[in-house]
Amino acid sequence: MHHFQYRGNELYCEDVPIQAIAQKVGTPFYLYSHATLTRHFKAFSDAFEGLDRLVCFSAKANTTLAVLKLLAGMGGGLDIVSGGELYRGLKAGFPPDRIVYSGVGKRMDEIDFALKTGILMFNIESLEELEMIQQRAMALDIKARIAIRVNPDVDPKTHPYISTGLKKNKFGIDTENALLAYQKASRMSHITVVGIDCHIGSQITEIRPFEDALKSLKDLIQTLKNQGIDIRYIDMGGGLGITYHEEAPPHPSEYAAAIARVLGNLKIRLVLEPGRVIVGNAGILVCQVLYRKTGPAKEFVITDAGMNDLIRPMLYHAYHEALPVVRSDRESFTADIVGPICESGDFLAQDRTIGYVQSGDLMAFMSAGAYGFVMSSNYCSRPRAAEVMVRGNRFEVIKQRETFEDLVAGESAPDWING
Ligand SMILES: *Cc1c(COP(=O)(O)O)cnc(C)c1O
Repeated sequence: MHHFQYRGNELYCEDVPIQAIAQKVGTPFYLYSHATLTRHFKAFSDAFEGLDRLVCFSAKANTTLAVLKLLAGMGGGLDIVSGGELYRGLKAGFPPDRIVYSGVGKRMDEIDFALKTGILMFNIESLEELEMIQQRAMALDIKARIAIRVNPDVDPKTHPYISTGLKKNKFGIDTENALLAYQKASRMSHITVVGIDCHIGSQITEIRPFEDALKSLKDLIQTLKNQGIDIRYIDMGGGLGITYHEEAPPHPSEYAAAIARVLGNLKIRLVLEPGRVIVGNAGILVCQVLYRKTGPAKEFVITDAGMNDLIRPMLYHAYHEALPVVRSDRESFTADIVGPICESGDFLAQDRTIGYVQSGDLMAFMSAGAYGFVMSSNYCSRPRAAEVMVRGNRFEVIKQRETFEDLVAGESAPDWING
């Protein structure tokens, strides 16, 4: 459920007509619904009622400060994958002891930053990283809390670019070597083993892969216990899918029930890292139709948003529902909806039947709250879009549209260029 609905023929975000926002802010812009964000976070967290749990929102799905601040205010934690995300998380008010740090390529300066901050734990993805963290912790005289990210080799049955828990993927450490890593870690002077972690992929629409992964982690916890290594946190990662089109992912309550069932009476603190399921359907991309054109093979709708604003259609062949912001009685038609960029991959939808739009009309691309703005770029020197949040009948720009000056900020040409 989300709060982007038609009233009559006009698309609203909560109590605000989207057209009114476009008039004030210009296009393209990302638009987030406060009520939807709140509702999704609460539904997810409440699903685990009765379990000792910490819901760490996965920052990489959407790192806009206002979004983070809202989730921090609801008692959420944060899953980060870079120093930049740690910086944003702290700025948004997440307490360090609710921050977990994942990622295969943590740099030394990022590790130092996280150690000094005193985050809850590092999710370690290789033996070399473990050694690096021990070294840095020793140098700074801080004890590092760690979990090993285990690659349980389960097939999440999702797009290959977002499946992460298969043997062939770069993520985590396979079960056998994880055991060795734990033994090693438990002997290190500046490492405290606290957890076990996995994250098997994204946009997962079945329960089974999660259950299989958790069973595998549970077995490992028992093996570790037998060797005197005690695990206090089990981090299940994120990955629960959402409905973009016709997918029917499990409700967070089904997901939580399955996890509770597999956990049984294991006394442990559960960490979860949902991203998409919190923000995906809480945000949309609004743009304007520039032109229509009819080619010999296809009809095109050309919008002022392109792959630099929303790369998911090009990158994953992702489906985003396309809606006219103001519905008309005229007949729907089938077209490719494309951006202004000089790439044939610059499409937002292909062979899509959409409600009638013409030059000047506004269109909304739904379910764009996750991996939308965060993946946008300045390709073709296009300033990044504005971001707006609605709460009830209010709206506010939470990130200004970039200017041409922003595009060249930090650039310089040496004086010998033309010498
Ligand atoms: C991307 C990511 C997540 C979030 O995944 P979603 O599919 O958006 O829920 C969680 N944990 C890790 C380690 C990730 O890389």
